[in-house]
Amino acid sequence: MSGHVTIVGLGPGADDLVTPQVTAAIEQATDIIGYIPYVARIAPREGLTLHATDNRVELDRSRHALELAAAGHRVVVVSSGDPGVFAMAAAVFEALEAGPEHWRELPIDVLPGITAMLAAAARVGAPLGHDFCAINLSDNLKPWALIEKRLRLAAEADFAMAFYNPRSKSRPDGFARVLDVLNAACGDDRPVIFARAVSTPEEEIRVVPLTQATPEMADMRTMVLVGSSLTRVLREGDDPLVYTPRSVVP
Ligand code: SAH
Repeated sequence: MSGHVTIVGLGPGADDLVTPQVTAAIEQATDIIGYIPYVARIAPREGLTLHATDNRVELDRSRHALELAAAGHRVVVVSSGDPGVFAMAAAVFEALEAGPEHWRELPIDVLPGITAMLAAAARVGAPLGHDFCAINLSDNLKPWALIEKRLRLAAEADFAMAFYNPRSKSRPDGFARVLDVLNAACGDDRPVIFARAVSTPEEEIRVVPLTQATPEMADMRTMVLVGSSLTRVLREGDDPLVYTPRSVVP
């Protein structure tokens, strides 16, 4: 059988949130490539080579996947959540575009997964029930000024917002600035959902008003959802219910 690359999303963490299509692709694979904690979710078996690499080497990892596929391997590249959302799918296509011409003939499939934003939203109700946007708060691949501009304009447009990568050890102060920008831009208070390690045993969910949100409420395993001006909290406490109505009445 000729080689191919399948780029899959493993969902937010729980085994039963991995799609059957992704499970089948992993069963057919000869090689799994990905970031260490995601590859650790794949059960070892005979005939399967696990290639786990550290963070921030997405392009090396992508080239490796394409080289192995060109040599006839059935390669599965794993991401958490969905592979097209701040994850490996775009990295593989960057490597493909910059690589040798013959790579373009390789069969490449992207299999979707449940992204953290949707798993977090579902956990508290329907905070993304009306228009929303998703922003990666990491400034590894874009300037901070652009993040700040997008936050301001999203607040002005009254989108609900979903933030990936809100805070990490290498960026301890960025999220405090995000909260300052939002407090200045939003004009009124609105619910903020901190959803940590959704669908895993370490899951923690917290809903607070924007004016009371603090940087320590987020870490690198947290998804932050900020409501629009219409988002309502129907129930507080351990099992909160938050939703954004479908309509905006003029
Ligand atoms: N491709 C992934 C996102 C990768 S970026 C996806 O579609 O979900 C990594 C960020 O995703 C983390 O910093 C965190 O903000 C979020 N994230 C991933 N898994 C999560 C989970 N189980 N619970 C909460 N947030 C999660």
